[in-house]
Amino acid sequence: MNIVLLGHPGSGKGTQAKLLQKKYGIAHISTGEMFRSIAKEHTELGRKVKSLIESGAFVPDDVTVRVVRERLAKPDCTKGFILDGFPRTEQQADELQNIAPIDHVIHIHVEDETVLKRLSARRNCARCGTVYGLDRVPKQSGTCDTCREPLAMRADDDPKKIKRRIEIYHAETKPLIDYYKRKRLYATVNGDQDIGKVFRDICGVLEGKKVTK
Ligand code: AMP
Repeated sequence: MNIVLLGHPGSGKGTQAKLLQKKYGIAHISTGEMFRSIAKEHTELGRKVKSLIESGAFVPDDVTVRVVRERLAKPDCTKGFILDGFPRTEQQADELQNIAPIDHVIHIHVEDETVLKRLSARRNCARCGTVYGLDRVPKQSGTCDTCREPLAMRADDDPKKIKRRIEIYHAETKPLIDYYKRKRLYATVNGDQDIGKVFRDICGVLEGKKVTK
């Protein structure tokens, strides 16, 4: 089962991908996570990726496609995968067709205002990776429940950069909705519900219980 999760930054793709990975035993591939790890490398590419991410811009398609191609060739992807944050442009979607067949494209729909509110509240634990936000508030403000580490905000989660990322989403990624509708792979779920309900809706689509739009 090869799945693409489409949606705004902050629509819940990462959270849902982790749940899908657990339920179906398939690989979770987040290009954002991959790029954040590349950005830590002291290489020319690392420095370039870091500055792009921090400004809220996209990494160029050729670099992104190469990274995904290499990742999908790994053995844990043979049973299937969930792509979280890829493709984000039509060129990436075209290239993906030559890398692997896709069975489902699920769009987690949320409004711009919801994204702005969610991302402004998002904080991460640098040690264990737990993400806190509006739907998961730490017991002690600013501190990870598990590690007791101070929580940090992602460099691209400040309001100005969030707005830029939303604009880029509309210009570059939203056209993929029609792209995948034409290929009859597209389904949409309402991402403005609690995490468990969104997950049940996604599983319904995957198991053919919900009519796709
Ligand atoms: P995310 O964690 O998915 O919000 O991604 C964080 C950042 O990584 C994005 O704002 C981009 O700078 C970069 N990135 C992630 N996926 C892609 C992609 N498919 N194409 C281009 N840049 C990407």
